[in-house]
Amino acid sequence: WAKSEGKSRWAVYDPERNAREVARFRLSATMPAALEREEFFVDYQPLVRLADNAVVGVEALVRWRHPEHGLLSPDRFIGLAEETGLIVQLGRWVLEHACQQASRWQREFGPAAPYVSVNLAARQSRDPGLVNDVESILRDTGIPPTGLQLELTESAVMGTADDQLDALRRLYEMGVRIAIDDFGTGYSNLAYLRRLPVHELKIAGSFVEGLRAPDKPADPVDKQIVGALVTLAHALGLTVTAEGVETRAQAERLRDIGCESGQGWFFARPGPPETISRFLREGLF
Ligand code: C2E
Ligand code: MG
Ligand code: MG
Ligand code: MG
Repeated sequence: WAKSEGKSRWAVYDPERNAREVARFRLSATMPAALEREEFFVDYQPLVRLADNAVVGVEALVRWRHPEHGLLSPDRFIGLAEETGLIVQLGRWVLEHACQQASRWQREFGPAAPYVSVNLAARQSRDPGLVNDVESILRDTGIPPTGLQLELTESAVMGTADDQLDALRRLYEMGVRIAIDDFGTGYSNLAYLRRLPVHELKIAGSFVEGLRAPDKPADPVDKQIVGALVTLAHALGLTVTAEGVETRAQAERLRDIGCESGQGWFFARPGPPETISRFLREGLF
């Protein structure tokens, strides 16, 4: 609260802005108790192989069922949790729940079970306890390291000090999959990317938008950009998932461009684990 005020030392008193800040502060103050009371829950969204529409992974997306404000999307509270530091506990909670769910899918579907992909905030990737947490969660839930993927944004990894990358390297060497989230929206240092322990780039939905309309050719610039990102990824030995796939036309164009996987409303919205189980039994379409 006070910290965000620091930037605008010259700002005059603005009652609306002040009310917003108070609301933010209240929300962040209730988060620890909300975590205790299990007001958070995790939805899952399929990560789909474009060649055959198989659900190969699922992304874990946290939500907050708030007693007064109703269902809150992560955009409302992840930033707050990062500011207060609670993201470390919240993130660990999500990781635990996602891995427990993954182990249920392992039991039910064996080798066809999807990997779970969990978002990691910058602060978590710098947390010295991260590798231990992951190791013990994998041990407790019995899922193999390859059954877990961690998603980090470009800004969370680029410019991170080298010794902080050690944690990622250790996870990578254990076999945990590492993905760069929202790729193309931050500022990636390509020399740096080359040295990063990463398996996959997730191309941000904003680049995929121009491939949307079924009745028009794809936007040539977006198509070139996606093509260039796919070429870059493959040159680095990485696979590509496209985010924000909302139409069949996008899915087909992305497949033709060489993206391995896609994620988006065309396949399925984020939902409860039972919905994923049904997809695994019956297929997506
Ligand atoms: P993200 O990791 O890039 O996740 C993808 C977001 O795109 C999700 O929003 C998802 O619901 C949305 N989405 C999926 N398909 C489509 C589509 O076809 N069209 C459009 N327009 N959107 C689509 P959501 O669930 O609101 O999450 C927002 C962000 O919050 C995530 O973006 C991620 O950065 C963050 N987040 C969510 N869960 C966690 C978490 O457990 N920990 C951390 N650190 N961050 C999280
Ligand atoms: Mg993500
Ligand atoms: Mg993303
Ligand atoms: Mg995002």
